Amino acid sequence: MGKPTGFKEFERATESYRDVKERLEDYGEIFTGNHDIGHLQTQGARCMDCGVPFCQSDNGCPVHNLIPEWNHLVYTGKWEAALNRLHKTNNFPEFTGRVCPAPCEGSCVLGITNPAVTIKNIENAIVDRGFSEGWISAQIPEDRTGKNVAVVGSGPAGLAAAEQLNKVGHSVTVYERADRIGGLLMYGIPNMKLGKDVVQRRVDILKDAGVTFVTNADVGGEGDSAVDVKTLQQENDAVLFTTGATRARDLDVPGRELNGVHLAMEFLTANTKSLLDSELKDGNYISAKDKNVVVIGGGDTGTDCIATSLRHGCKSMVNFELLPQSPMERAEDNPWPLWPKIHRVDYGHEECIERFGRDPREYGILTKEFIDDGNGNVSGVKIVEVRWMKVDDQWNMEEVEGTEKIWPAELVLLSMGFLGPEHYASDAINIEYDKRSNYQAKYGKYATSVAGVFAAGDCRRGQSLVVWGINEGREAAREIDRFLMGTTLLP
Ligand SMILES: Cc1cc2nc3c(=O)[nH]c(=O)nc-3n(C[C@H](O)[C@H](O)[C@H](O)COP(=O)(O)OP(=O)(O)OC[C@H]3O[C@@H](n4cnc5c(N)ncnc54)[C@H](O)[C@@H]3O)c2cc1C
Ligand code: SF4
Repeated sequence: MGKPTGFKEFERATESYRDVKERLEDYGEIFTGNHDIGHLQTQGARCMDCGVPFCQSDNGCPVHNLIPEWNHLVYTGKWEAALNRLHKTNNFPEFTGRVCPAPCEGSCVLGITNPAVTIKNIENAIVDRGFSEGWISAQIPEDRTGKNVAVVGSGPAGLAAAEQLNKVGHSVTVYERADRIGGLLMYGIPNMKLGKDVVQRRVDILKDAGVTFVTNADVGGEGDSAVDVKTLQQENDAVLFTTGATRARDLDVPGRELNGVHLAMEFLTANTKSLLDSELKDGNYISAKDKNVVVIGGGDTGTDCIATSLRHGCKSMVNFELLPQSPMERAEDNPWPLWPKIHRVDYGHEECIERFGRDPREYGILTKEFIDDGNGNVSGVKIVEVRWMKVDDQWNMEEVEGTEKIWPAELVLLSMGFLGPEHYASDAINIEYDKRSNYQAKYGKYATSVAGVFAAGDCRRGQSLVVWGINEGREAAREIDRFLMGTTLLP
């Protein structure tokens, strides 16, 4: 455990982000990168080693990180040992340490009576120290099994599976239709939350360990970059789909076709690509500069659109949410150790308050129409306020009469979630889908309806989190190894 009386002696204190004013001027990570060892040891000391660590249970960390163990190792100054414990369960703690919403902290036992242990900060500090001390290197397998595995898609699920399969000696090739490896880690989550050098550093380690990466390889697609799915099946002993939940939910209201109304991912992907290619000098991105921006829908994607627009220099910013604001404290039907559904102020909201003096979020707002400026460009968004009422345990929405209004907007970004995976690659070999249009494959087994073809991550479970991608990629690798070898030692 940490210090037996640590949780009584020390208050929770998270590592602070970079100063808001300063970070708004660039696309660097919001984190300072300076981990104060003394501070982290004190925070590690708060871990009670509570006997039944809910933080690493099913309600907490999806990869079941051995949290109390590495908290204790950090408290006692054994950082390399802490890193080894962390890597036992998590291939990429530098990703989760930066972007995970930390369900572990929501189910920390100390959290019943006191603020939870700062688990995510400690995880990030352990792995950052591991890199700076040179403790992390490629794990090259001693023997090869002679089996080939193709992984389609290079997000966290594909990368975790590739590393695990490579470790036990299979020859793994990862096919990615984009021009860079990483899935949403590369083109999705912006640089401010996850530096692309951090993603590339891990991809390079996997390359050194023997994983082959093929970019601009559109499996099941058409044109120059097409890779035939059936050929992939024939040339490999197993195929794993980790293609993500890339179909965005659209908003079918009048004016949707106007210039200036975009899906969030069109905006975020182009911005990152242009930044990486030319530091935005090539102009191949959708600019929010001097525009009134409306972001429709919240979540991580909405926040990332807000933060990116602010860095472009938008004129104003508003974020419409259909649902009411979450409570400040857990509601009665949301007790510990469940994920706390409470109001949060994320980095983009904090930055908007700094720039415009107000939180951008407006709750209970329904979008009715996009207004044309007369030249086919959007000039405003017609909205109406809505009220939510519970009738027979069902939430019903009702428009509030007389509240229709038009907000000025020259740029509208739609961030309303994702519907599931695209089907062009999977249809080519007749993979079956579940009721939500995800690839049909049982959690824990990952086998699809086609022999030798597996699926994991967002394309199987629907839009989720990086840590769930890692969990599914690791477990799918275990099942593929079992399928290829008849037995497996992978966790
Ligand atoms: C803007 C945004 C912000 C987010 N922020 C967070 C966050 O802060 N924290 C968090 O935990 N989660 C966050 N998420 C969710 C998280 O990124 C995803 O849950 C996670 O990346 C899913 O991993 P995956 O490997 O299943 O798929 P993805 O990361 O989506 O990767 C799938 C890859 O497959 C490729 N692909 C698809 N079809 C083909 C094909 N036919 N041929 C070849 N390649 C193909 C795609 O190009 C893509 O690169 C965010 C998501 C978005 C969109
Ligand atoms: S991966 Fe996420 S849930 Fe697991 S310990 Fe890290 S922050 Fe917590």
